Amino acid sequence: MTSLAQETALRRTFAIISHPDAGKTTLTEKLLMFGGAIQMAGAVRARGEQRRTRSDWMAIEKERGISVSASVMSFEHEGLSYNLLDTPGHEDFSEDTYRTLTAVDSAVMVLDAAKGIETQTLKLFEVCRMRDMPIVTFINKVDREGREPIDLLDEVEKTLALDVVPVTWPIGMGRDLKGVYDLVNDRVIMFDPGRGDHIAEMAVDAPLDSPKLDEAVGAAAAARLRDEVELVRGGYPEFDLESFRAGHMTPVFFGSALKTFGVAELLRGIGRLAPSPLARKTDKRLVEPTEDKVAGFVFKIQANMDPNHRDRIAFFRICSGRFKRGMKVKHVRSGKLMALVNPVFFLAQSRELAEEAFPGDIMGIPNHGQLRIGDTLSEAEDMNFLGIPTFAPEVLRRVRLDDPMKAKQLKKALDDLAEEGVSQVFKPVDGSTWIVGVVGPLQFDVLTTRIESEYGIKAGFEDGGFVTARWVSCDDAKEMDRFALAHKTNMAEDREGAAVYLARNTWQLGRAQQDFPAIRFTATREQH
Ligand code: GDP
Repeated sequence: MTSLAQETALRRTFAIISHPDAGKTTLTEKLLMFGGAIQMAGAVRARGEQRRTRSDWMAIEKERGISVSASVMSFEHEGLSYNLLDTPGHEDFSEDTYRTLTAVDSAVMVLDAAKGIETQTLKLFEVCRMRDMPIVTFINKVDREGREPIDLLDEVEKTLALDVVPVTWPIGMGRDLKGVYDLVNDRVIMFDPGRGDHIAEMAVDAPLDSPKLDEAVGAAAAARLRDEVELVRGGYPEFDLESFRAGHMTPVFFGSALKTFGVAELLRGIGRLAPSPLARKTDKRLVEPTEDKVAGFVFKIQANMDPNHRDRIAFFRICSGRFKRGMKVKHVRSGKLMALVNPVFFLAQSRELAEEAFPGDIMGIPNHGQLRIGDTLSEAEDMNFLGIPTFAPEVLRRVRLDDPMKAKQLKKALDDLAEEGVSQVFKPVDGSTWIVGVVGPLQFDVLTTRIESEYGIKAGFEDGGFVTARWVSCDDAKEMDRFALAHKTNMAEDREGAAVYLARNTWQLGRAQQDFPAIRFTATREQH
């Protein structure tokens, strides 16, 4: 049996961050192909199609060409175990994305060679930076005309304030693409324009000064490459593992996800450079992955994955210990023991029962609502993993129920969906109907569709007159009462009964803060 330390060292848990259309889905498919997890390209999409026929809300995803739900894919390659956490790219789902990023140890940033850094890349990068996360850069679509590689690297360096170190270098681009030069091993990975899903690659050992390079790519391309590499080697720092691990330096790979080109280099790069699971902070202490007691946290809830069962899956990141099926862990928030008898693994092709799992692995824990985002499960002492935020909803609407007989069911639907963490439900204290808050307005379309398809209730969302919400608290209970009394029509409770102030405009919020300096207004509610 391998040791816990060995198993931990073999794991790489990462996410891909990118702007929509940069090629994340295509790259994901290809990475899974290298993992032997799927034989054909298109399988990720094909799986998506199957899911969609089962659930209508996925239709929105299809219609708008965006990916709504994040998922987990596990695969193996050259002896290492990878867990790839998918993050939805559309900005309306950023809250979900932020939480998913709390569960990985590194990220791959995919850029379109013609576009460079785009708005969503920047936003997601900022989240990674907050956590000093190591980032590997993949410049995609070099099979098409793109910007000059040096220009792209300069943009990464300047916009993100990161040191960049190219690991491969494109030889030509678009129609003239001959291959990429592997700057570490001095060889050319040849590009064949006819290649699609082949994973075998042709590499030619061709040191820069050898005539083999001219033979491989032609004299003109070889000459140009020699000039460029001279510039590159002079102009960029040496790769420094420590600086990369601290989030200050990014190694850069060039390739084409569509043509399965440069992807093997990228995957090996992740294996070689990206960190295995790291120690994680809790409110008590740092938890090392190699501790023998199992501990971890829930970063995402997905309800109704199977519409026939009102089950929900809690996505749980193991941070320490060797997990064995059937094991009992303490649910710290409730103080109760939970036996994890049927956890699932997300192998790329199917959901499988997890027998054993290690730090860095993600398990799905089916449950009936006991588990919430941010919850810690621990075999060791009571503690809570830190840093999984709840965001203030930026768009608020009032629920409109078309059939008043169904109020109870609607409440249940709203609660269930809120538990997934993408929406929040507030009950105004004046007794009026629920106010739902989301980070992006597109979420309302998703909610409407899901409420209808999964609960059979017709409901809609309309302007409720509120623009923003703040959690309010005060050490002095009397003062809190005075505040609530003065703002009766603004007060609501969240699902956990915490007091929330709903503002009709920013001026009103400012006024309330001014009038009641003892009250704390918070835009996020950290889970613990
Ligand atoms: P996502 O939105 O980031 O998941 O992007 P997709 O993977 O869906 O890709 C967006 C579009 O770019 C699709 O039409 C892909 O076929 C195309 N695409 C992805 N990678 C490449 C590539 O390497 N080269 C070219 N030419 N097109 C690509």
